Amino acid sequence: MKITEVKPFAVWVGRRNQMLVKIETDEGIYGWGESGFSGRELGVKGIIEHYREFLIGKDPMSRGALWQEMYRSQYFEGGRTLTAAISAIDIALYDIVGKKLGVPVYELLGGKHRNKVPVFATTAGPYGQEMIDQAKEFMEMGINAFRLSYDNMDIQSGGLFEPRVSIANSAEWFIEARKQLGNQAIIGVDYHHRLNVAETASFCQMMPSHTLDFIEEPIRDETPEAYEVLRTLTDVPFAIGEEFASKWQFLPYIERGITNYARVDICNVGGFTESMKVAGWAEAHYIDLMPHNPLGPICTAASVHLGAAVPNFAWLEVAMARASNDYGEGPNFEIYPEQILLEGNGYPLPEKPGLGIEVNEDKLSEPFKFWEAPHPHKEDGSHTNW
Ligand SMILES: [Mg+2]
Repeated sequence: MKITEVKPFAVWVGRRNQMLVKIETDEGIYGWGESGFSGRELGVKGIIEHYREFLIGKDPMSRGALWQEMYRSQYFEGGRTLTAAISAIDIALYDIVGKKLGVPVYELLGGKHRNKVPVFATTAGPYGQEMIDQAKEFMEMGINAFRLSYDNMDIQSGGLFEPRVSIANSAEWFIEARKQLGNQAIIGVDYHHRLNVAETASFCQMMPSHTLDFIEEPIRDETPEAYEVLRTLTDVPFAIGEEFASKWQFLPYIERGITNYARVDICNVGGFTESMKVAGWAEAHYIDLMPHNPLGPICTAASVHLGAAVPNFAWLEVAMARASNDYGEGPNFEIYPEQILLEGNGYPLPEKPGLGIEVNEDKLSEPFKFWEAPHPHKEDGSHTNW
């Protein structure tokens, strides 16, 4: 079997762009992959076009060697754009290999460890009683793990975000949430790296121990040493890693015990090939995967196969807006006529060969649109993180 075409698609899907890749072979088998480098899709598309030049004619069965060839074929190794492209290609190659051998992808990864892949949900409404009520709805669905909303002020419109105001308001409602939801609830928060070390410490210290089960990425991840300092200032477990673009970025966080959950993003870290290495390494340190899953149905499907095939697994993020019509736009069956859909508190394991998804290529005609994440600021006018 030989690769005959590598097609990148950066397409507008209604709310933002998705960066997909289709890889075709001389046997008529094809595979789909998705990249996670949201907001800078054209950069990834350009890298895929470079890789296309030497991937055509190669054997897709040799996906591990192709990963190495892509990673090592430039002088400037690594980085988020490169591995986002490699991720999409690697996922598509696994889709092809699964179809070729007639098995779901998790069978290529050592077989299944579980009968479904459990999820955690995120409240969509504003912080306050509304988010607690939404969490109660999740618990009625059997979803006991969730991230609650926090006071993100005017951040979504690119307006004001003042960390000290946000943490004071949010902490009050998290204390209330724990009271109302009880100890069966697994309560987390994703501060989306919008705080610094001192602000995160204050936020955690405003709440009694075990108000939170985890805090996700309160600060940026460039400096693991900053997280090590933060570790000494709070006892709340950390969930870090959704932006990591290789096992080498996970290295200090796993080996120095900085993270307690590995937020692997299969569409950023390097596809199945790299995710399985991170998973094994995390297993040796008793760290469970809590994969990041904010993209389209290909990302979800790939994450479900990964989640099925590793022993050390907590919950997969579920994009409720996509998983359920009750929470937003619902699944896009026009582009994705076949996808893996949430059932209760988990994703069922697909039985079809490959990823178990289908993409309607004819519907990928909606052109790319430039989209910017909000550019929020503090009260004094200075820029802060989205
Ligand atoms: Mg996050």
